Amino acid sequence: MQSQNALIAILLAGSLWAQKPGQAPAAFSGVSALAFTAKAVSFGPRPPGSEAIGKLQEYLVGQLKLDRCEVTVDPFTAHTPRGPIRMQNIIAHYKGSTGRAVAITGHYDTKWMPAAKFVGANDAGSSTGFLLEMARVLAARPSKNEVYLVWLDGEEAFERWSESDGTYGSRHLAARWSADGTLGRIKALINVDMIGDRDLGILQDVNSSQALRSLVWSTAAELGLSRHFLSDKSAIDDDHMPFLLKGVNAVDLIDFDYGPGNSYWHTDQDTLDKLSADSFQVVGTVVLEVMKKLE
Ligand SMILES: [Zn+2]
Repeated sequence: MQSQNALIAILLAGSLWAQKPGQAPAAFSGVSALAFTAKAVSFGPRPPGSEAIGKLQEYLVGQLKLDRCEVTVDPFTAHTPRGPIRMQNIIAHYKGSTGRAVAITGHYDTKWMPAAKFVGANDAGSSTGFLLEMARVLAARPSKNEVYLVWLDGEEAFERWSESDGTYGSRHLAARWSADGTLGRIKALINVDMIGDRDLGILQDVNSSQALRSLVWSTAAELGLSRHFLSDKSAIDDDHMPFLLKGVNAVDLIDFDYGPGNSYWHTDQDTLDKLSADSFQVVGTVVLEVMKKLE
């Protein structure tokens, strides 16, 4: 019976919540990550400064209050080709014992496309939902390293992608973390972008730190997930770059082949039906294993 199954699911979820350190660690659920993604998409197009992204921000902060972390909102004004726009990064911080930190980042804004019905399920619903599931897992699974989960605002360019149009949130945070000394504690930064594609193929970004890229790819191989971690190489400019440029050990995990000839990217084809829970599961499993190796 469906209702009974639903009740069992709720009870199971309840037992995960009650989990104490030392018990079996909570597992990353691709199904749950996809559900969080669907929730983000339900707010509609979410460009920086919009009413919809405001509602998503409220939802994110409310959700994170359940996840036993310290939540910080990092507001700033971005100077865009469309004038000044108020943006905010959202940061969830989990304490550790090593004095070192790992940051998992991803953007949550969608590209400003007033003429298109662009809901951005993969770009950037997937990174939004992935990070929310990571927050849920980390609440029940303490890490020796501190962990920062960061929802970055303003990744998308308003006009043409350049050094000054796009990556607004990551440029702001890299500068702030450089000034307050946080960057010096970051052992590794993993940025995720467009990781929900049901035909998941993560390319090797040659801009990323080679050591960290090797660690991710060898971990995926050990887990039998190499088919999703391609040998194709490309140079990707994404939210990891402002941190890399400041000397942070950083990697970008991106599937930049979304639909035939990347035709779903930045179009009204970027909808939930193009995603799969399995893809989130693959990335979540690999990222958590890499985090364990970094301890
Ligand atoms: Zn995009």
